[in-house]
Amino acid sequence: MKIICIGRNYRKHIEELGNDIPDEPVVFLKPDTALVPKNNPLVLPGFSKEIHYETEIVLRINRLGKAIPEQFASRYYDAIGLGLDLTARDLQKRLKSKGLPWEKAKAFDFSALVSKEFIPVSYFKDLYDIRFRLDINGKTVQKGNTGNMIHNFDALVAYVSRFFTLRTGDLIFTGTPEGVGPLHRNDMLEGYIEDKLMFKINVK
Ligand code: ZN
Repeated sequence: MKIICIGRNYRKHIEELGNDIPDEPVVFLKPDTALVPKNNPLVLPGFSKEIHYETEIVLRINRLGKAIPEQFASRYYDAIGLGLDLTARDLQKRLKSKGLPWEKAKAFDFSALVSKEFIPVSYFKDLYDIRFRLDINGKTVQKGNTGNMIHNFDALVAYVSRFFTLRTGDLIFTGTPEGVGPLHRNDMLEGYIEDKLMFKINVK
C-alpha cells in the first residue's frame, strides 16, 4: 500500500507557514514503512529537533482506479480515519530553501500515524462538515472542519489518480488545518473525529 499526502489544503495553515496558496493540490508520498506499528508509542527520530504534528482526515481507498473522473470519485473511498502527518520542520525548511525534495522530512520511519478504526463514509450526514481535533496533554491544539478544505475529497481523488494508480488499502492524507506545532517526549496525544476518540498515543 502507499500513503498519498496533500499539502496546503487549508488556508489558515498555509498562512501560518508563510506559504503561497497553490493552484493545484500539493502532493507527496510516504512509504508503508512510515506507518507507526499498532500499539507502539510515537518515537521521535534523532535527526530532527523539531518534529511537528499535522492532524489530518484520512481517506481509505476501496477499489482500483486510475484517472478517475471527479463525478465518480466518491465511489473510490469508503471510510474515513484520522492521522498524524509528522514533519521534521527544521529539515523541511533546509530542503525547501535549497529547492530539494521533502522526503527525508516527511516520509521517515513512523512519520504516519493512522487510527486503527475507520468510520464508514455513510455514517456522516455531510462529508464537508466533519469536525476533527488533536489534544496534547488534555489541551486542544488543532481544530479542523472538512468544510474548510480548498480541494474536497472528490477533487483530491480525481487529481492524484491522474498520476498514481489507486489501489485498495491506499490512504490519502487530506491536509492539515492551522495550529501545527512541535512534539515533545512524554506528550500524550488524543485525536478525535467529532467527539469520537480515534487514537491515543504517547510520544517517546
Ligand atoms: Zn500534512
